Amino acid sequence: MKYNFYPGPSKIYPQVARYFQEAMESGIMERNHRSTAFHNLFSATKSLLKSKLNVPLEYEIIVVSSATECWEIISQSFIQASSSHFFNGAFGKKWWKYTQKIHHKSKGNEFDVRENPSLQSFEKEVELLAFTHNETSNGTVIPQSFQEKVRNEFPEKLIAYDATSSMAGYEFDWNLGDIWYASVQKCFGLPAGMALMVVSPKAIDRAIEIGENMHYNSFNFIRKNALNHETHHTPNIANIFLLNRLLQNVENISAIHRNLQKRKVMFYGELKNAKKLIPLVHSEELLSDTVFCLKGEKEVIEKLKQMAEKESFILGNGYGDLKDDTIRIANFPAIPNQHYIDLINFLIRFEKMN
Ligand SMILES: *Cc1c(COP(=O)(O)O)cnc(C)c1O
Repeated sequence: MKYNFYPGPSKIYPQVARYFQEAMESGIMERNHRSTAFHNLFSATKSLLKSKLNVPLEYEIIVVSSATECWEIISQSFIQASSSHFFNGAFGKKWWKYTQKIHHKSKGNEFDVRENPSLQSFEKEVELLAFTHNETSNGTVIPQSFQEKVRNEFPEKLIAYDATSSMAGYEFDWNLGDIWYASVQKCFGLPAGMALMVVSPKAIDRAIEIGENMHYNSFNFIRKNALNHETHHTPNIANIFLLNRLLQNVENISAIHRNLQKRKVMFYGELKNAKKLIPLVHSEELLSDTVFCLKGEKEVIEKLKQMAEKESFILGNGYGDLKDDTIRIANFPAIPNQHYIDLINFLIRFEKMN
């Protein structure tokens, strides 16, 4: 397929082929994770992440296997009794459901895709507030103005953001959250099988206070290893290497984000007169910069998929409840600008048919 707009696993940066070759030749994948060679790679990669993504120096980064694992780690290590989860789509809801297996008192607060979450009616004694920064299933985002409001109104709570489809695309104000995590097969443009968790000093203190150490992936245990630039088990060395090489060669996140925003303006602007395919939500502020979601009649979506297939476009299927009447389009940095121009032309042609 020539064009891949699938929102995860998604288009991999083409230069990754070269980096893989380099990883083989360097021998790093055959070295153990307590070796100096690995220490150096891991420590350099964390520094690069901080400088390219503008992460505050005092935040710490750990490497795990998936965003799903982060759901479990957060439940185990950062929550003693309960958390409150705010969601308007499938991923946020899953996070809540996973947390509930460990903490049955954790609360789910569903909100409408056309609105911000409501901060009025949730139980205030919870320890952690959980938000899906970018809801990959429906292309909505938690606006920064809302994140500021949450931080201001609840300065004592831990605030966690699932940023799986926005980290490495959005320029965050990291201080607005205590725990941010993402797996690398979405916005990072890398192969699946690794995730990053970025954690504030406040969250680290809280984890130490809770003192949970019962699991191979207890945060305190992972962190103890990470402080020595080691991992708690043999990690995905290949992916750490690829991430390292990639970060050396990409622009700073603020330039990357600006480019994604420009493409978003172009995308929705060019399609503003479309009748068959319309944005799922209409509030500019709630529309994600990294995942676009268009809605249409079931038959229209079906036809679009067939035509896309013929013309070598991989589009994202609708997800969960939105499976049959939406399509999703990744706006991830690994996808070249020209592909959006080609995609827009394709969608305009589709609009004009019959
Ligand atoms: C893809 C995705 C996940 C799950 O990621 P895995 O790496 O498969 O665990 C979780 N949350 C969001 C928002 C996602 O987009």
